[in-house]
Amino acid sequence: MSLPNYVLGQWRESAGAGEPLIDPVTGDELVRISSQGLDIENALEFARSEGGPALRKLTYSERADLLAKIAEVLAANRDEYFRISLLNAGTTQPDASFDVDGAIFTTKYYAKVGRTLTEGKILKEGALIPLSKTNVFAGQHFLVPAKGVAVFINAFNFPAWGFCEKAAPALLSGVPVVVKPASPTAWLTQRMIEDIVKAAVLPTGAISVICGSARDLLDHVREGDTVSFTGSAETAMRIRSHSNVLRRSVRINIEADSINSAILGPDVAPATDVFGLLVKEVLREMTLKAGQKCTAIRRVLVPRQHLQVVGEAICSQLDSLKVGNPRNPEVKMGPVVNKAQQASCLEGLRRLKQECSVLFGGDERFQPIDADPGKSAFVQPTLLACKNGRDAKFVHDVEVFGPAATLVAYDGQDDLIAMVRRGLGSLVASVFSNDPGFIQNVILGIGDLHGRTMVVDSIVGSQHTGHGNVMPSCLHGGAGRAGGGEELAGLRALLFYHRRFVVQGPANYLTELGGLSADANLLYL
Ligand code: NAP
Repeated sequence: MSLPNYVLGQWRESAGAGEPLIDPVTGDELVRISSQGLDIENALEFARSEGGPALRKLTYSERADLLAKIAEVLAANRDEYFRISLLNAGTTQPDASFDVDGAIFTTKYYAKVGRTLTEGKILKEGALIPLSKTNVFAGQHFLVPAKGVAVFINAFNFPAWGFCEKAAPALLSGVPVVVKPASPTAWLTQRMIEDIVKAAVLPTGAISVICGSARDLLDHVREGDTVSFTGSAETAMRIRSHSNVLRRSVRINIEADSINSAILGPDVAPATDVFGLLVKEVLREMTLKAGQKCTAIRRVLVPRQHLQVVGEAICSQLDSLKVGNPRNPEVKMGPVVNKAQQASCLEGLRRLKQECSVLFGGDERFQPIDADPGKSAFVQPTLLACKNGRDAKFVHDVEVFGPAATLVAYDGQDDLIAMVRRGLGSLVASVFSNDPGFIQNVILGIGDLHGRTMVVDSIVGSQHTGHGNVMPSCLHGGAGRAGGGEELAGLRALLFYHRRFVVQGPANYLTELGGLSADANLLYL
């Protein structure tokens, strides 16, 4: 069976044999995808000329209502998404929930905050700026929805959330979306869009999906369009430097890979509450979605004197973890997404082993529960330790996109900050400490290179939202290697899909600009 693509307001079968999507536990072929034969140039133009105007006829709050309906449709089909996720990505129930329920939650969130924009069609930004002595002539900044199409090129690890966290702010802005999911897990995104289309929630042309190769997609993006890319740093470089993207100054957002850190403060003694919270979080980050999260903890920086005891605490938990076929109710961790990712993880681990010792796992002939290692794509959870992080190279550079983390010993704050910064820009770092002075120094030392820093102390305890969990009300993105992008952060996400301009004119007219504008000053709602 080949999955049809949805473009030009119609379901289209693709030409050619297509590419098979595989069950990573059994190795069975599930469905095929292909973008061959699609007229991508016209697909983008149709979205711009049909979907965009239809969306922008509505106000922000009317579009927020559409998002609420989308969330209802997705929630009604949740079981089917869990089924597809299990088949195509080998997810356990919590893994699938993280993606699917995260998608529904984010869509609902934007429906809710979108309603606060009331009836406006453009957004007023900031206060009136007096430009004349008598104040009759003034300037006012506005944000107007871009009259282009939002193109999403997504990563394989979040086929549901990755689609919704981008689509919700774009649609709320009045911008039609064309989604190109990553091939290995395109099925789930395609099914969600099929359900949204079937429910006739959105105007024709407001949503399209292209499964399979991106082909000439970037040759056809234009000035008013936006490209939002999530994936590896290597592909990001190709997207960023694409000649048409450069020539037309197409606005792009890049969310790329990241060597995220968790930091244990020097004040935290073993067997204390905060120590336990770090151990729990590292374990969760290593195993949830088999470590295939862009935000997952890759480096755990611990005071040198605690390296061994932290290692022992994590290893004892890993030892009892059941890894295998997620259809077995005892299993807590499934495979990585396919054989190619498995090979990439094993290659990454080989490099890390050159400068680290293995505290747990790392066995390339690992035997998962209820699965054939020859056909399946499992990676054994692996904990490494690096005693000489200052001279290490791979630890700060190689992203093993699977269930692996490395403990790195540090000696003092300067050493710690210097090593964390060698990730060259990350999505998130978390600090586990009760020492306000230490926390402040770390935040000041690494904040410019991290989109998010999470602090956990005894008062917060287990009430934090999680190192790897992206909240729609807070910024998601990171400097440098992490792509330099910014997503979410509540209504600030809408900025990407708007164009800012200033109108200079009669002050009394600008205050409301013909009643069109909603106040955009509450951007962190
Ligand atoms: P990838 O191989 O870079 O692919 C990402 C997307 O780019 C896929 O849809 C892929 O399509 C497409 N693509 C590949 N070459 C292209 C080209 N020349 N032109 C246009 N599109 C192209 O990444 P992945 O393996 O799917 O995802 C894993 C990586 O994503 C990890 O490194 C992870 O850290 C990162 N990630 C980052 C975030 C974040 O928010 N920062 C979130 C999730 C994942 P095909 O699949 O069809 O090749």
